Amino acid sequence: MTLPLSSSVTTAHGPHGFLHSTGFVIARNLAVVLAVVFWLGLAFWVYKDARRRMRDPFLVFVATLVGLGLPFIGPIVYLLFRPSETLEDVRSRRIELRALEQQLARSRPSCPVCSSPVEPDYLACPVCMTMLRQACARCNAPLEPLWQMCPYCATPLEPSQVDLDAALAAEAKTIALVDDGIPLMPQAEPRVADA
Ligand SMILES: [Zn+2]
Ligand SMILES: [Zn+2]
Repeated sequence: MTLPLSSSVTTAHGPHGFLHSTGFVIARNLAVVLAVVFWLGLAFWVYKDARRRMRDPFLVFVATLVGLGLPFIGPIVYLLFRPSETLEDVRSRRIELRALEQQLARSRPSCPVCSSPVEPDYLACPVCMTMLRQACARCNAPLEPLWQMCPYCATPLEPSQVDLDAALAAEAKTIALVDDGIPLMPQAEPRVADA
């Protein structure tokens, strides 16, 4: 009578005993805890990443819900649909663009007296009436102050027409306007020393 009982006990005890052995329970619990931690960690990462990429709090909420609601698959789905640029990227690109525009605006020719924008072929500033260039006596082309000869008709300019000192001073002023780092050239003192 005792033999079959003991055998039935061992057969019932075999797999059951393995499932309830402390080593297996600890390993299983550890795996479950790790899986849960990994799941929550991924969901938290989705939340943080969504906040870096989306301005709308509702979209961040939806992304977090996807990351949390579909364990391990949600973050992959989020990766497929998230915006490619972070808000920081968008901001720095906008700042860069604005700096470039400002640089372009500064390098555009402007009147040395009133700083209003002028075209390269203007003879005078239309705002403050400052004479910017001489017109060629022969072909009426606008001449740069430093030119010794008209490049359009090859007429040499008369020395009286070329005021080199004034031209250099104007040039220095324009450079100083374009780049504040370059100081204005000293103009008065050398001239006094020459005379
Ligand atoms: Zn002007
Ligand atoms: Zn000319």
